[in-house]
Amino acid sequence: MGGIYFLKSTYDNLEKVNPSVCCLAMETLWEIKAPPNFLTLSWKIIKGKTPTMMNLLRRGIILTSYLCPLCNQVDESTIHLFMECEVAYHVR
Ligand SMILES: [Zn+2]
Repeated sequence: MGGIYFLKSTYDNLEKVNPSVCCLAMETLWEIKAPPNFLTLSWKIIKGKTPTMMNLLRRGIILTSYLCPLCNQVDESTIHLFMECEVAYHVR
């Protein structure tokens, strides 16, 4: 699977086994020398906090469609938006 899925699933598993390890992983993220907006986005992806249609649905927000607004092919999940969407891939 994609890197984002790996990070998210690894984080979820670590959190179940040992919450303090997860805190350490999140603290380590902030020590990476990268632009703050990149780190913030990485944190949001790992925590499942990106405002994708599926995350909004999980939070109980009712919308008329949950399709990816870029390609209108499948529901917009974090994995789809950052790893699978052909339209998003070409937006730079
Ligand atoms: Zn798409």
